Amino acid sequence: DQLAFQSLEDALKHYYGFTSFRPLQKEIIQALLAQKDVLALLPTGTGKSLCYQLAGYLLEGLVVIISPLVSLMEDQVNNLWALGEKRVVALNSLLDKSEKAYVLAHLSNYKFLFLSPEMASQEAVIQSLSQQKIALLVIDEAHCISQWGVDFRPEYRNLHLLKESLQQPLTLALTASATQKVKEELTTLLLSNQPIVFEQPIDRQNIFLKVMHVTDKFAALTQLLTENKGAGIIYCATRKRVEALYQQLKSTYQVAYYHGGLAGNQRQLLQAQFKANQLQLLIATNAFGMGIDKADIRFVIHYELPDSLENYVQEIGRAGRDGQQSQAILLYQEKDEQIHYFLQEQQKNARKEYEAWYEQAPALLNAAYLSEQQLKWQQQIQKEGYAAFMQRLKDSELTKRQMLKQMLAFIHTQACRRQWL
Ligand code: ADP
Ligand code: MG
Repeated sequence: DQLAFQSLEDALKHYYGFTSFRPLQKEIIQALLAQKDVLALLPTGTGKSLCYQLAGYLLEGLVVIISPLVSLMEDQVNNLWALGEKRVVALNSLLDKSEKAYVLAHLSNYKFLFLSPEMASQEAVIQSLSQQKIALLVIDEAHCISQWGVDFRPEYRNLHLLKESLQQPLTLALTASATQKVKEELTTLLLSNQPIVFEQPIDRQNIFLKVMHVTDKFAALTQLLTENKGAGIIYCATRKRVEALYQQLKSTYQVAYYHGGLAGNQRQLLQAQFKANQLQLLIATNAFGMGIDKADIRFVIHYELPDSLENYVQEIGRAGRDGQQSQAILLYQEKDEQIHYFLQEQQKNARKEYEAWYEQAPALLNAAYLSEQQLKWQQQIQKEGYAAFMQRLKDSELTKRQMLKQMLAFIHTQACRRQWL
């Protein structure tokens, strides 16, 4: 913005009225001002947005933010408006053709441009952006690039094309969680050779960790629900089980269920109701998570085993963002892991089936008899090539198995679970 400040603290005060930085914010901004690519791994609610916003203000040009969900974009746009920043726009599926054309023709009016990954792949968008001075490219929820995460978004894998067309702008990748593997993938695909990595320890002192080995899970759950007040999330492993548990609880609690099979607007409505305490409980698959910004979730109950520690940590981390004491309780009943073995086996079979078809008659592979998942693979194969994609898929099968083993080890450890994590 070409304003001169004595210090970053002064700038912070000017734009936000805050008096001090949260951990790592300043370091991240300093690295960006020194034109270094940054990978920042910070838990949700710790203030990642401020990092790209303030750095953006202090750099010349447009800040482009890739964001995976329309609802996340709308939140961010609203937050910027609330701060008095009007030079903000979001390019996503909510805009019609003429609105989109208007935005693209007036890019220099904006300081912050939010883009869905689909939009970021479009030639017209890339073309218009390449005419602009780009201060910073931000990849929010950057773990979406990894096939190993639940939030995998194939379009994220094409973002390097945007980077190339924009002549490798300064890049900030943001995420709340990433395993070593995801970090490496992210770095190779999106960041320059030696990004500076900032990472906060995952330990959250105000979340009490508990694993209960039970023989009657439903009884244990109802007991827990009488003991724990306030808003809570109950995670199940599949959509079917989410709905089944909902049937059992719906007459007693202010409860709804949430999974990827619901329409987008229905999901947004549920999030809003939950945030406004019109719902006490949400029973959900791990589709419920990314971008939830409810600070006072008092407990997270795993009614079924998560498929990996990575997801477990991510899911329990939704509790207690306000810093108040909160509970993370995992209910484990013998054989709970079976569902994951079953799902993994199912994916492997689908992959083998696909391979067999592909090798016999690739030209005949058509949408009519491919599953939803196989169709997604198909799209990705067209971009990546068959061999590379299949290798990745097989690697991911192995990784998933190992992750499940690790999860089980966590369930059965006698050691302090916090230390173990
Ligand atoms: P994240 O993207 O990491 O989940 P957000 O960027 O949405 O988190 O920030 C969460 C909240 O923290 C916001 O309400 C924001 O205003 C607040 N916040 C961020 N940085 C600071 C700070 N330095 N001082 C006080 N509040 C802050
Ligand atoms: Mg965020």
